Amino acid sequence: ASGSDDNDVVVIGGGPGGYVAAIKAAQLGLKTTCIEKRGTLGGTCLNVGCIPSKGGDVGQAVEPRRESLSQLISLDKLLAKHSFANHGIKLSSVEVDLPAMMGQKDKAVGNLTKGIEGLFKKNKVNYVKGYGKFLSPSEVSVDTLEGGSTIVKGKNIIIATGSDVKSLPGITIDEERIVSSTGALALKEVPKRLVVIGAGYIGLEMGSVWGRLGSEVTVVEFGPDIVPTMDGEVRKQFQRSLEKQKMKFILKTKVVSVDTTGNGVKLSLEPAAGGDQTSLEADVVLVSAGRVPFTAGLELDNIGVQTDKAGRILVNERFATNVPSVYAIGDVIPGPMLAHKAEEDGVACVEYIAGKEGHVDYDLVPGVVYTHPEVASVGKTEEQVKTLGVDYRVGKFPFLANSRAKAIDDAEGVVKILAEKETDKILGVHIMAPNAGELIHEAVLALQYGASSEDIARTCHAHPTMSEAVKEAAMATYDKPIHI
Ligand code: FAD
Repeated sequence: ASGSDDNDVVVIGGGPGGYVAAIKAAQLGLKTTCIEKRGTLGGTCLNVGCIPSKGGDVGQAVEPRRESLSQLISLDKLLAKHSFANHGIKLSSVEVDLPAMMGQKDKAVGNLTKGIEGLFKKNKVNYVKGYGKFLSPSEVSVDTLEGGSTIVKGKNIIIATGSDVKSLPGITIDEERIVSSTGALALKEVPKRLVVIGAGYIGLEMGSVWGRLGSEVTVVEFGPDIVPTMDGEVRKQFQRSLEKQKMKFILKTKVVSVDTTGNGVKLSLEPAAGGDQTSLEADVVLVSAGRVPFTAGLELDNIGVQTDKAGRILVNERFATNVPSVYAIGDVIPGPMLAHKAEEDGVACVEYIAGKEGHVDYDLVPGVVYTHPEVASVGKTEEQVKTLGVDYRVGKFPFLANSRAKAIDDAEGVVKILAEKETDKILGVHIMAPNAGELIHEAVLALQYGASSEDIARTCHAHPTMSEAVKEAAMATYDKPIHI
């Protein structure tokens, strides 16, 4: 349909970067087409990432929030110690209906992808389903999903083709026993033993989902720490919390090979520093050692777009590549591989194209690990502040002293605030709490406005809320908290 139409903007890829850029472009009055090969919009995030990994809901009856796949209360806790029994609700039995849980997840994903199609219609974004490749800097040939091909022309072209699972030497992903995050979101039964390769946020989230459903989970990590970007002190508490949930960690260890056996999988391990090999057996292995930019089949060479050694497309501060009128955003360019970062890129890139000013502050992109409890952070870690040589103060407040957390019997965690000693300006905030991913935004806003810890502390916070712990940690930064 779009064949010979001349667009102001053509977006290749309909993930959070691409679809948001397309909608924003149309809202700014630019004639826009978005090309997506998957057949559904929303990209990795909506189809096989952020959303399906948080799809189920258990425990809602008692908790004042929705439980999701990544936050499931483990079954024994559900029956015994945790929510229901402690809150005076007796259940005689509880069981997992995995097909129903997966069905609910698929339904949520289906509704959301259709929702974006609706937004495209509402904003008059033309949607072409198919695989795009460059013919010239202003022409994309699309092999359409319905068969045949069409050429889409545009004055500006935005590459938003995202990322893919990183493979490891010696390991072949079959998505049955040796799975990527995509396969891990669609297992047909709960594996008795699950080994996760890589202790980044995706591995920990997926590992803790299956752990809560009953798997024995062992995480093997090459580096010395889990989630290396996390504040060290919070990371220690977080690791302890996961260990309490029976997740095991084998750090500083390399996975040399993974082989399928008659009824499972066998891994060969070796100390990262070298040494004797050991073996580990499992029913399913999840490979989550990171993600790589995806540009296969785009034929970037046809137009000479520059990439770095890691395959990421190089852009300037206006998201422009070295080829005039070709831009790139999201996971396919350097920077944190996060959906909200891709969305910010998309809006700013289109604003530049429309002749306006765009802005993304990469120092203030929040990061959240959606386990239970969650860990969320923004700004600098204590290690980073030390490296900068800035004099700083630390304020902390544990959720054990927060009335709402106590009332719902889910009080594991802490708020930690780092502020510059001389000016009290907040440098970083790190929260471990059941709903840290929501709590963090007060801190993001504070950092965005250059607030001091006293600014947060003197802001009235509603009682009883978990957010009061943020206020108290702010008080503890320059003065004393009240409730501890
Ligand atoms: P993508 O979402 O990868 O979208 C790119 C799209 O382009 C794809 O749909 C692809 O089919 C399409 N495409 C590629 N090449 C072509 C072509 N030549 N022609 C047409 N179409 C093409 N991030 C968070 O912020 N929070 C989370 O909780 C979170 N959880 C995650 C959990 C998992 C298991 C995974 C794997 C990722 C998670 N992420 C999360 C990361 C997040 O999914 C990505 O950062 C985000 O999707 C990047 O958006 P994007 O638009 O750049 O690329």
